[in-house]
Amino acid sequence: MGRPATFVRFAGCNLRCQGCDTDQKAHWQMSLPDVLAKIRGDRVVITGGEPTMQMREFSELISLLHSHGKEIHIESNGTNPIAEEILKKIRYAVISPKRCSDFHLNFWASKENVHLKFVMGTAPWCWTSSLLEPYLPILDRCRVWIMAYGTDQEMMGARDAWDLAMKLGINYSDRLHIRLLKR
Ligand code: SF4
Repeated sequence: MGRPATFVRFAGCNLRCQGCDTDQKAHWQMSLPDVLAKIRGDRVVITGGEPTMQMREFSELISLLHSHGKEIHIESNGTNPIAEEILKKIRYAVISPKRCSDFHLNFWASKENVHLKFVMGTAPWCWTSSLLEPYLPILDRCRVWIMAYGTDQEMMGARDAWDLAMKLGINYSDRLHIRLLKR
């Protein structure tokens, strides 16, 4: 967060989270060389929607960027496990499980370059302290983050999320894109 990067957003998602901050309708088609030509700098974040919905293109893009020496980060809801040979080309994968989905927690928890991000709140797909705590014994707390739900700049749950992170010994993540981009 806060470091310069080119964002590549794949269109579409297999989940429909209430309050999703991504426009799921806007999209256009690009070839892999077209995408490569648009990349600025050495750091690329591949996100969505859900990028693994287009697993072949997602995997090919990662291999292409890796062959060009790019530092690759991805964001995913974790519903589609990524092949080992692709995962190892990724610097950090941020997996944000939604509680009503099949998120393969044991798979992701076993990968050292995977960080798990849980969005806290009252929406049906969000997490609460009591829902999250049973999973903590199988997770490496250094790679677990919580973030407050919120699509407006007030970020009303941010302080509660921070307090909970301190109590559980895990990490807090802010929503910098919301604080800065909607002004
Ligand atoms: S998984 Fe992410 S992109 Fe998909 S609907 Fe939920 S918040 Fe939006």
